[in-house]
Amino acid sequence: MPIRQLSETMINQIAAGEVIERPASVVKELVENALDAGAGRVEIVTAGGGLNLIRVTDDGSGIPEPELALAVARHCTSKLSTDINDIRSLGFRGEALPSIGSVARLSIRSRTAQGDSAAEISIEGGRVAPVRPAAANRGTTVEVRDLFFATPARLKFMKGERAESSATSDVIKRIAIAFPSVRFTLAGSDRSTLELPATDDSPEGQLRRLAQVMGSEFPDNSIAVDAMREGVQLTGYVSIPSFTRANALQQYAYVNGRPVRDKLIAGAIRGAYMDVLPRDRHAVVALFLSLDPATVDVNVHPAKADVRFRDPGLVRGLIVGAIREALTNAGIRAATTGAA
Ligand code: ADP
Ligand code: MG
Repeated sequence: MPIRQLSETMINQIAAGEVIERPASVVKELVENALDAGAGRVEIVTAGGGLNLIRVTDDGSGIPEPELALAVARHCTSKLSTDINDIRSLGFRGEALPSIGSVARLSIRSRTAQGDSAAEISIEGGRVAPVRPAAANRGTTVEVRDLFFATPARLKFMKGERAESSATSDVIKRIAIAFPSVRFTLAGSDRSTLELPATDDSPEGQLRRLAQVMGSEFPDNSIAVDAMREGVQLTGYVSIPSFTRANALQQYAYVNGRPVRDKLIAGAIRGAYMDVLPRDRHAVVALFLSLDPATVDVNVHPAKADVRFRDPGLVRGLIVGAIREALTNAGIRAATTGAA
């Protein structure tokens, strides 16, 4: 066969294979978009574990009608200006909406503050329908129906409604921790509902959001962490050794506001608690790192949960040192001269 360029839809479906693994990945992408648009409220509704329906409504900036077609076109983004080394938004790849639209039935209804009416675009299995007028308040509603109808092989791998709903709820909690001043609600067809009223961005507001997610006992069983080393700032809350879990699922880490899953951070947390916790117990933590975007690479994987630090030793040392110091100051840990 001669070499030919893949069709646009095929290209998007290949990208979807990486970005859109399951309903929770759709929710993650849509919620990130709402937050990038400055939303104060994000409402999520799902049915059938998200396979039948995912609807995310926000009160953010909205998409101007002339740009709706671009929103579902590949590699089109309003976020990344010119410099891959200076990423400050959650999204930057211009890939999520076209990917979702290539494997599901997607519609976007949006209205900006300036626009005097709303407009809607839809795309089904990669086929884009013309923009049409709609009725809506300011903000954006994205609806995804029949996820993976166009890629049955992926659909077969879904785990069932309960498992998908719980993955969705985890995704929302993880991201909500980084945005305490935003109200999040999740309504599912089964028992999976979530209501996280807005608090505020102060440390107290932050702690109240953590209590909503980790349980109301968390504030009384945690201590604040606050440290800075060579331009890298670490803040957050970590649980005292009597407040632990059997797994590390409630160890949340953020880099410049982006939820990350990172072995280095997980290892540093383990190291910090090494001499105060049994091996099979795990602390509950929320840690926020802020550093110059040029010193951390978030462009490692399409799902953007992986990061690479320019100076991993600095980050590890900061985390281990700050947690140990906090535990020591709280009288939980004897002061030692041992190296981190
Ligand atoms: P990215 O987030 O990487 O830019 P997406 O495919 O997720 O790529 O979205 C494409 C574009 O559509 C965004 O850059 C943004 O301009 C617009 N957009 C998507 N969702 C929203 C939303 N909820 N509110 C406002 N604009 C949005
Ligand atoms: Mg996006």
